[in-house]
Amino acid sequence: MPTSRGLMKGNPPVPEALSRRSCALWLAAAALPGACPARAAVNSAAPATTADTLPLRVVASFSILADLAQVVGGDAVTVSTLVPANADAHVFSPRPAHAQMVAQAQLLVVNGLGFEGWLQRLVQASGYKGPVLELGRSITPRRQGGGPDPHAWQDLEKAQRYVAALLEAFSAARPQQASAMAARAAQYRQQLQALDARIRQRVAALPADRRRVVSPHDAFAYFGAAYGIEFLPVRGRSSSSEASAADVARLIGILRKQRANAVFVENVSDPRLLERIAAEAGVGVGGRLYSDALSAPGTDADTYLKMFTHNANAILGALEAAR
Ligand code: ZN
Repeated sequence: MPTSRGLMKGNPPVPEALSRRSCALWLAAAALPGACPARAAVNSAAPATTADTLPLRVVASFSILADLAQVVGGDAVTVSTLVPANADAHVFSPRPAHAQMVAQAQLLVVNGLGFEGWLQRLVQASGYKGPVLELGRSITPRRQGGGPDPHAWQDLEKAQRYVAALLEAFSAARPQQASAMAARAAQYRQQLQALDARIRQRVAALPADRRRVVSPHDAFAYFGAAYGIEFLPVRGRSSSSEASAADVARLIGILRKQRANAVFVENVSDPRLLERIAAEAGVGVGGRLYSDALSAPGTDADTYLKMFTHNANAILGALEAAR
């Protein structure tokens, strides 16, 4: 497991902002990451004005933001992802390759609100001096346990704010493609709103006593608040925090007493604890939720829209079937 020292050691020399821009331009043309010629050679190889027509190099902190960035940016951006599909951003350990990825970015897109605890160290190690777009600043976060709850992407309305913030940043960086990106964002917003309307219709048909769900970590409070469904997390806001014996006993008690609407496992946490709780309470596991990461490319939750659709179908399907 890399330490901060290891990260620093493997880090390339810190370029100053302007030369990095030119250097990166050359890298894009020559496809030779890691090599950077003198600036004069860069300028003769590619005039500075070309820079604004090349795709904006975006590095997103995790897969969900990467997908939103790609949808909005289209061919005006190239998006790389630090924490990949099915991986847990709460316990991510950046390696030197991640520092190199950040060093070559023109825009770093992160959630903020305390979600990427490893980010500051990574940015320092990379020498990145460019802009950091913190999407969490575009919303008013829920407060929980004395801090902001970072999982705002689990609310379709808040995701639309993220989309608007991405559109604004991308349009400023690539004004020539701004109208095309605005059209993409508008179309995407319609898809998010249509999904939201379908979910609300199904929730409205649910009996009031059938809206209680157990999830592995506290990633669904925004979803719960948006749709009036109560999520009982086994762990806290971070998937790395341990569930105490008392927490587990409390949940088993609640599940038994409430006739258990549904229990879910998730893609970024070990499912065994939840499976044990469900078995002890005599409740079936309602399926897998995607909380903080998309599923692998080509599978059923490999975009934000598919992820949200999957989660809503799993949650509502289990609640509708509950007796
Ligand atoms: Zn989380």
